[in-house]
Amino acid sequence: MSNTKTPAQELQKHLQQLSDAFALRLQEDLPALGQDAEQLLNAADPHEQLRCLQTIREQLHKLAGAAGTFGFSRLGQRARELEQEAEHWLTTLQQEQQSLQDFSQSLQQLANQVYQPEPEPSPAPASASPSKSPQRERRIYILEDQYAVGETMRLTLNNFGYQAEHFTRIAELDHALQQQRPDALILDVNLPDENVTGLAYAASLQERLDEPLPLLVTTTQDDFATHLEAVRVGAMGFFTKPVDIPQLENRLERCFAQQQGEPYRVLIIDDDRELASRFSLILRGANMLVEMQHDPAEIFTHMRNFNPEVILLDVNMPNCTGPELAQIIRMYDDWLRVPIIYLSAETDINRQMNALIKAGDDFVTKPISDNALVAAVFSRAQRARLLSNALSRDSLTGLLKHADIKEQAAVELERAQRSGKPASVAMLDIDFFKKVNDSHGHAAGDNVIRALANLLRQRLRRIDSLGRYGGEEFLVVLPDCTAEQALRVLDEIRQRFAELKFIAAGSEFSVTLSAGIASTEAAPLSASELLEKADQALYAAKHGGRNQVR
Ligand code: GH3
Ligand code: MG
Ligand code: MG
Repeated sequence: MSNTKTPAQELQKHLQQLSDAFALRLQEDLPALGQDAEQLLNAADPHEQLRCLQTIREQLHKLAGAAGTFGFSRLGQRARELEQEAEHWLTTLQQEQQSLQDFSQSLQQLANQVYQPEPEPSPAPASASPSKSPQRERRIYILEDQYAVGETMRLTLNNFGYQAEHFTRIAELDHALQQQRPDALILDVNLPDENVTGLAYAASLQERLDEPLPLLVTTTQDDFATHLEAVRVGAMGFFTKPVDIPQLENRLERCFAQQQGEPYRVLIIDDDRELASRFSLILRGANMLVEMQHDPAEIFTHMRNFNPEVILLDVNMPNCTGPELAQIIRMYDDWLRVPIIYLSAETDINRQMNALIKAGDDFVTKPISDNALVAAVFSRAQRARLLSNALSRDSLTGLLKHADIKEQAAVELERAQRSGKPASVAMLDIDFFKKVNDSHGHAAGDNVIRALANLLRQRLRRIDSLGRYGGEEFLVVLPDCTAEQALRVLDEIRQRFAELKFIAAGSEFSVTLSAGIASTEAAPLSASELLEKADQALYAAKHGGRNQVR
């Protein structure tokens, strides 16, 4: 028998260890609370009573948040009730001797009991993005009863770097689906030779799959009812015929980008180490990268080195409160896009609102179930990344903007110099693009630009950087790549691009591109010198008759 543990078992083990550590901590914290209760009773004057009450309230506050999270929910609830009582006295400043005695007794009771963690009511956290497959050709199935239409789609998608297969009958598709699951399915709604519509088939298909299949539908009916039916079977895209295939490809890419992204980076700032460790384990279990920080003064180092996408921030910390720290973070434009979620035992709605008004975006109250924590962080991280991409990337193509790709080129060249490996840059420009705009309209021109961007993304490696340098000009930075290799890759892209068929106002057209390459092999050049050389090569390609790579 092997004793290797699954990740879920590992997580359970670590959570148990943290829970045990918390139970140990209780053995110190609870007697301390009992002593405080005694001190409160024996306080010499109202001043000292007040001080005692403050300490007690702080301790109860911590206890209320942590106990519930570690599974001691009865203790957590009781601590919360007593905290509110203490709070009441502190604000009204009415301390009747009799009720203070009762309060002290309640505290002693709380402190003297033995607590056991109650069984966790919430199931283990769901993995936020379980499918992390390496970069490979994506398999797309197409169901299209018109042979020529389906074949055009298949060939075009193959040009984009997908592995597309086309079926004209449901039975054929069904057979293929049993052999292998594709990454996405493109489905024609209108199938006159079948007993069911494409959407009815999709509904039955999705029902028998464990995990829904990304689905795009094509149709001649663009009425509301068909849209609605499509959404109900899980469609992520809707295309009216004749289908603009580059646009469809664009949508496919967006579906996949949502699925596969890098793990989200989360920074937890909490002075309670065990609690922070627990949150960290839960989020790591859901495939996020987590860093913990216990000292608020280290904020700048963590922000710069870790570059978090979400910050979970405790409200009550010694030396510096959560809202104060949030205000410090918000003094910097660079970090504006990072959502700050307060994670606190604070249930007083007025205090929550006060904290939010100062800075910060949301409140999550401790104790929190594992699933609720994952969902809260995941949804904020997802949205933050979407927005951040929208800001730093060109909206039409999703590629880096001019300044960013230039900066990237400089970074890569420096790295190449250090490693002694060659690097290449390529400048691409679409041929006679003005004519495309003039004869087919600006929207059709935009589509061509987008198609080239998508083609580049599909065909190049993950380590390559891509940017939209100007209107219809692109800059590609290829680390660890000789001029000869770059030429081969770019020439293949040139051919594939020339084979793409675009549709505008019912008429079909294709477009070509020219490219110039420069590499660091011959002489160590600065980034701007290298770009200049690539630009000269591009110029030569244009003058040599276009549709070529130099
Ligand atoms: P060449 O083969 O010499 O490159 O000819 P060209 O017509 O492609 O080159 P030129 O630089 O003269 O024209 C580029 C055109 O691209 C001019 C501009 O209107 C158009 N353009 C620039 N940005 C966009 C854009 O975002 N969308 C669209 N549709 N057109 C754009
Ligand atoms: Mg051009
Ligand atoms: Mg141009």
